[in-house]
Amino acid sequence: MQEFDVIVLGAGAAGLFCAIEAAKRGRKTLVLDNGKRIGRKILMSGGGRCNFTNMYASPANYLSNNPHFCKSALSRYTQWDFIALVQQYGIAYHEKTLGQLFCDDSAKDIVDMLQQECNKAGVQIALQQDITAVKALEQGGYQLDTVAVSRRCHSLVVATGGLSLPNLGATAFGFQLAEQFGLNVLPVRAGLVPLTWQPADKAVFEEISGVSLPVTAEANDVVFPEDMLFTHRGLSGPAILQISSFWQPGDDLIINLSPQQDLHGFLQEQQQQHPDQELKTILSRLLPKRLVEKLLEVKVFTNQPIKALQGKALQKLADSLTHYVFKPNGTEGYRTAEVTLGGVDTNELSSKTMEAKKQPGLYFIGEVVDVTGWLGGYNFQWAWASGWVAGQYC
Ligand SMILES: Cc1cc2nc3c(=O)[nH]c(=O)nc-3n(C[C@H](O)[C@H](O)[C@H](O)COP(=O)(O)OP(=O)(O)OC[C@H]3O[C@@H](n4cnc5c(N)ncnc54)[C@H](O)[C@@H]3O)c2cc1C
Repeated sequence: MQEFDVIVLGAGAAGLFCAIEAAKRGRKTLVLDNGKRIGRKILMSGGGRCNFTNMYASPANYLSNNPHFCKSALSRYTQWDFIALVQQYGIAYHEKTLGQLFCDDSAKDIVDMLQQECNKAGVQIALQQDITAVKALEQGGYQLDTVAVSRRCHSLVVATGGLSLPNLGATAFGFQLAEQFGLNVLPVRAGLVPLTWQPADKAVFEEISGVSLPVTAEANDVVFPEDMLFTHRGLSGPAILQISSFWQPGDDLIINLSPQQDLHGFLQEQQQQHPDQELKTILSRLLPKRLVEKLLEVKVFTNQPIKALQGKALQKLADSLTHYVFKPNGTEGYRTAEVTLGGVDTNELSSKTMEAKKQPGLYFIGEVVDVTGWLGGYNFQWAWASGWVAGQYC
């Protein structure tokens, strides 16, 4: 029987960060993971450059059944703390857009940094571990079994992440473990994920796959201004990934195709200057030509000289382009989702320590918890922050 003070399940962002902090406190700490290497999601994040935090991260950038829960951890380990660590390791980084910080070279820099921190603090790591059973011990603490070995610990930290990218080792283990100990788990669904076409839209729009433009995307009264990309399967791009976390099956997705320009004003101006020009030509000044052709095909407008649009017709055309309604069929699901919404109910956890209120010594951190960030480095910041706070207590 191997004995540890702390066992952390999951060698991802949250698990490694927690283990480092626990080991720094002198706790004998072991991290177990089912994969062949640590930090697999970090390595492929941000297109291989890891968007490791966001300069503007605040509780407002997170979705949770209890929006207050994340405040404590985010305020005690901030983006500035993580940036200081990255600087200490001399990792070159840059702001891409909207406060999103990426490595200049490779996400591997972040994983190497975490590995070095683990080495310095004395964290032990065991990979390719298939946990067969977890039980609470009568005298306190937990026992974890694999086929080969049984291990005991005082504190068990669950950092097994969400369900996205199942081929990268994602499992529902953390949710099942929570349920095993009687903790409530809120329904989970894919977030930060492309949306798919209804068959009728697919027939029209898949031909313009690759076209992208700045839009605002709106669902359930939430609006994100960013780029949208047409794909073979549906809509993607940052605006769509962001709104996907707020969109529910059956909801409308409202797209403003001209968020940066007063469209009605533009059309009025064009009507005065080029009354004989056709609408297709005029709209192609503002929108990608291939998209304009498709809008014509679905009869958003008929191709006629702009002078023919009299009375309220110009305003009506502007409205239909600034409130273009798609009814997505669904999402691409966990196969391509960046995150899992929902998870272990925050009401079950202490926001100060991340420990389960009714199960002493059991902690949940990172994505397995019902706290999900927007696109843009917020999810890693939650992983670092929740891992850090649990590491102070476990
Ligand atoms: C393609 C992609 C790109 C992303 N890019 C970004 C980005 O640039 N910025 C950002 O902020 N967020 C990004 N995210 C989201 C971010 O990666 C996650 O929110 C974050 O990794 C969550 O950290 P975690 O430690 O909770 O879980 P994970 O990083 O998922 O780690 C969980 C670990 O637990 C292990 N595990 C699972 N089940 C078991 C089990 N049964 N037994 C043992 N081990 C187990 C897994 O193998 C994994 O190593 C991206 C996600 C994806 C999928």
